[in-house]
Order: sequence, then structure tokens, then C-alpha cells
Amino acid sequence: MHFAQTDEQKMVIETARRFVEETLYPHERTVEERDDVPAEVADEIKRRSIELGLYAAAMPVELGGGGLDTLSMSMLDRELGRASYALHYLVYRPSNILQACVGEQREKYLLPCIRGEKVDCLAMTEPGAGSDVRGMKCKAERDGDDWVINGTKHFISHADWADFVILMAATGEEEAPPQSGRGPRKKITTFLVDKGTPGFTVRPGYKNVSMRGYHNFILEFDDCRVPTSQVLGEIDKGFDVANDWLGATRLQVAATCLGRCDRALELSTRWAAERKQFGQQIGKFQGVSFKLADMALKLKAAELLTYEAAWKHDQGAMTDSDAAMAKLAATEALGFIADEAIQIHGGMGLMNDLPLEMIWRDARLERIWEGTSEIQRHIISRGLLRPLGG
Ligand SMILES: Cc1cc2nc3c(=O)[nH]c(=O)nc-3n(C[C@H](O)[C@H](O)[C@H](O)COP(=O)(O)OP(=O)(O)OC[C@H]3O[C@@H](n4cnc5c(N)ncnc54)[C@H](O)[C@@H]3O)c2cc1C
Repeated sequence: MHFAQTDEQKMVIETARRFVEETLYPHERTVEERDDVPAEVADEIKRRSIELGLYAAAMPVELGGGGLDTLSMSMLDRELGRASYALHYLVYRPSNILQACVGEQREKYLLPCIRGEKVDCLAMTEPGAGSDVRGMKCKAERDGDDWVINGTKHFISHADWADFVILMAATGEEEAPPQSGRGPRKKITTFLVDKGTPGFTVRPGYKNVSMRGYHNFILEFDDCRVPTSQVLGEIDKGFDVANDWLGATRLQVAATCLGRCDRALELSTRWAAERKQFGQQIGKFQGVSFKLADMALKLKAAELLTYEAAWKHDQGAMTDSDAAMAKLAATEALGFIADEAIQIHGGMGLMNDLPLEMIWRDARLERIWEGTSEIQRHIISRGLLRPLGG
């Protein structure tokens, strides 16, 4: 086992760090104040990202992507994660799950996304089905060679910007195992649905405290008809398709949180070294210095879990529990570090002259999306108990 970065990884980190400083940070305050990313800023980020080879960094080289492995992507996400998420998410796309495209789907969706000509969004969550994805009500029924979709999705990020949605819909029911105490669980199929398809509408979603400039939407499907060629992966196997790719997505969340932790810890360390009260640097008070030690410790633990899980993903050996531990550790470390960073800064920590209040607000969301902290704990404990019949 060794922990040295390769030359390529060092280059990725260096390029991403410069990109964040030159192309993302200058727009951060505007985005926070306007709760919006100006179109010309979004275009500039995409253009520069394509020029530098960061866009589609995770996609295979033979399809025109950057071909980075999961560990290198985690390092990239860590650097990009320092900046406001509304700017970060514009840097690279598409969703990993689109690699499940086959035949004409590649020409119509995957390749244009890799070239930056089309943008995807992903819709699983519904008003009545969040953590319990398989309790979804949005359904697709077969009608000849078509599928007819009815239902509602909510909390769907950047659906305004997207050209199409990767939609999970129920296409049947599975019998629950006897004595499981559970009701039937839905069979799920994934569809690619273009904006503009009759019966598919996008409405504004909710205002939320985290991630200014990054908006969520409500999607309505009312007898929306799509051909069978729009099914991504196998019919009734949409949950498996999602599971195949969700692990890597959880690692993206974890790595992004590491970057925010870095930024908050760096600011706090500098502040503790420079700010004087009672005639001395506040970092000399154990009440402050021990906070820095605990912040550094939690960040290091989260880093090791994230990079180990990413490395295992590249070896084809990552378990659900590995991804859950990385996501849980990094999102909870961020919650702790963001809060302590504000405490160390005193009143200045809450002022928007510094990015700490943004990091603190944004941190709250990370323990909820891509599987809540409770769901991650459920996955970890299931991994322990199942082999013993629990
Ligand atoms: C800003 C934002 C953007 C989002 N973007 C997208 C998107 O682009 N696409 C998409 O599909 N979804 C998206 N989501 C949805 C997100 O993934 C869900 O919010 C998340 O999965 C939790 O679902 P929920 O909010 O319905 O909470 P619920 O599932 O209702 O959970 C409520 C509480 O109950 C707990 N709970 C639930 N089940 C269990 C259990 N079995 N054991 C213990 N505790 C449990 C949860 O941990 C939580 O504390 C987004 C959400 C937000 C807030």
C-alpha cells in the first residue's frame, strides 16, 4: 500500500486549483448575492473547462472524455469542491449513469454530453418517495412500442439547464419476501426523456438555504409518451443501473466535502495565527488550538476513507459500505469543521465578507442528498449484520 500521488494526479490537482482560483472564485460573490449564475459566466466556465480537458474528465478516452479513474476524480472534486457548488457543477458532466447508453443512445445523448452540447439531469425523488426510492409512484406503462409515463418528481437539480432527464419510473411490482413485513417494492426502469416531449413539464421547485444559484425543479409527466429506444439499461432493472453508478456519485459528494473542509481549515488556521485577543494570538489558547486539532483529525479520517473507497472502486472492489463510510465521514466532518470554523472566527465567521457562512449553509445539504446520513448508517450496519443473518 502506498499513498504517493502520480504525476498525472499532481497535474490534475494543479490544473484544478488554478481553475478554481482564476475561473470560479471571481464569480462566487455574485452568485451568492444573486442566487443565480449569469449565463455568460456559465458559458465561460464550460468553455475554459473544455479547453483544459476538465469537462467530461471521468468519461472514457475512446468516447472523447478525460479517462480519469475514480481516485483521480476524487482529487479533482476535492479541488473544485472549494468553490460554490453552483459554479463547481458547471465544470464537468455528464452523470456517470449515462455510460449505460447503448447504440443510438450514445450518439443522441452520451456523446453530445461529453462534447458539452447537451446537459442531463437525474430524476429519482418524489414528494412521497425520497430515501425509499422503491416506493415511487411515477409509473411507465407499456403501450405497443411506446411507454406512457405519469407522475411527479421533485427536488430535481438544474432541470432548467438540462436538455433531457434521466428518469426512474415504476414499471411493475416485486413481491416482498414472506415475513419481511414490507409491502411490495416497485420494479424500476430508467428512461431518457427529452425536454419538449408532449406531456413533460418542468416547474420551479423550492427555495432552499444551501447552494445558492443551484436550483431544484418539479417535473410533471402527464401521459408522456416515449419509445422503447429511450429505455436506459434493461427494463425493470433501473434500480440496478442506478446502484452500479451511485457508489461513484457518493464519492463525488465525499470528495467535494473534503475541498470545503480544506478551505475552512486553512482560513481558520490563518485566523488563529493572526487574530490577537488578551494580548496574544487566539491560536495560543487551548480552547482554539484543540478545535484546529479536531478539525484536522476529522478531515484526515474522511480523506483516507474517501481515497481508499475510490481506489477500491478503481480495482472493482468497492463495497456499498465503503462508499457509505466515505460519504458519511466526509459530510459529517464538513458539518463539524464548518461550524468550528465560524466559532474560531467569532462574529466575522458569520459575515459574508468571508466564504465560511456559505460553506456552513452548503454543508447542511450534504448530509441529506445522495442518501441521508441515516441511510448511510443503515448501509454500513447492514453490511455488518447480513453475514450473520441479521
Ligand atoms: C437541494 C436538493 C437537490 C436535490 N437534487 C436531486 C436530484 O437532482 N435528483 C433526485 O432524484 N433527487 C434530488 N434530491 C433529493 C435527495 O436525494 C433527497 O432529499 C434524499 O434522498 C432524502 O429524501 P427526502 O428528502 O424525501 O427525505 P426522507 O426520505 O423523507 O427522510 C426524512 C428523514 O427520515 C430518515 N429516514 C428515512 N428512511 C430511513 C430509514 N430507513 N432509516 C433511518 N432513517 C430514515 C432520513 O434519514 C431523514 O432524516 C435533492 C434534494 C435536495 C434537498
